[in-house]
Amino acid sequence: MSDARVPSGGSPLRRFRIAHERELIRVLRVRGPLTRQELIDETGLSRTTLYAIIGELLEAGAIVESPSREAPRRGRPVSVISLDPRSSSVVGVEIGRTHIGVVVANLAHEVIASVSQAFELERTADEIARGAIDAVHDAFTENGLSFGRLDAIVIGIPLFFGGTSEGGEELQADLGERIGQAFGVQPVFENNARLVALAEMQFGSAAGVDDLLYVHLDEGVGGGIVLGRRLIVGPHGRAGELGHVSVSAEGPVCWCGGRGCLERYLALSELSERTGFPIADLLGAPDLADRIDEQIGLLARVVAGQLSALDLRVVILGGVLGNVDGVAARVADHLASIVPAYIRESVEVRAASLGALGSARGGIVLSLAGGASAVTD
Ligand SMILES: [Zn+2]
Repeated sequence: MSDARVPSGGSPLRRFRIAHERELIRVLRVRGPLTRQELIDETGLSRTTLYAIIGELLEAGAIVESPSREAPRRGRPVSVISLDPRSSSVVGVEIGRTHIGVVVANLAHEVIASVSQAFELERTADEIARGAIDAVHDAFTENGLSFGRLDAIVIGIPLFFGGTSEGGEELQADLGERIGQAFGVQPVFENNARLVALAEMQFGSAAGVDDLLYVHLDEGVGGGIVLGRRLIVGPHGRAGELGHVSVSAEGPVCWCGGRGCLERYLALSELSERTGFPIADLLGAPDLADRIDEQIGLLARVVAGQLSALDLRVVILGGVLGNVDGVAARVADHLASIVPAYIRESVEVRAASLGALGSARGGIVLSLAGGASAVTD
């Protein structure tokens, strides 16, 4: 109820009813289909008030009731309430180094279209914009969807793209303008790793968890922090940049201007150089965790700092390296030997489960939450 605003005009009773309706719709939009009991828990409304509002909204066609996909533990089947899936759609786009992915979802949180197209990022702004527009266009037309109901677009971009250089900012502004013109909706930009953090919370290995640290281990090292189901962006937009936490004052100077950054030890190309194995051999090695034990130890120290600072207990590892068998367990082993007992007792390190299109799905979560302004502090 904390976000409900009481509208002006009408009788006080009517104004409260409208505020309650808005809150119910907001919760359904952000959380997806919920049972009546879950709606009571989420909104804090009384059973009588909630049931009356649900009745009105069902009659108006704003929400629908359908059988829950989960089998009832006992007794009669449970039904769930969701926003009308036909009412509008939201889009998550991910621009990766080698592909552009698009996921379209309805307001009932169902994925209704997805495409992934090979794409080389080293292109001009014009080509990137056209690639993204084409991919969104294909996702809609191949599935017979209407652009008329397109409600929000979130675009996931690689870190360097998001304003680490002036060129990056220009590229983003240009892309925003062109996508806005093409679809009539101004897109919101967010970095890919942070979007995966949101996607894992809503759909993946952190489902049911409201607070987590996501670590992306791939060509680069990144991360995302979710607190109270909100993505933490930070006052300068750089929260979660774990790759640029220094782990050695004597380490190499990093492209970011820092020294001894974690990324300079743990990015795939760095691991390959430090161990002397080509990346493919390294990733396929049954004793990978042993070969890179020292680097995993460095990662664990950075993660431990975040767990302490933010009071977190769940760590999700994603990216190509984060998903290799044994890596999560090795991070957990290192953590166990260095964190305070109150963290050690309950900390969990899990591999991400969404894989491809994880950022695009995170874009869906952000879109449904009302864009960056609604989910960030
Ligand atoms: Zn750095």
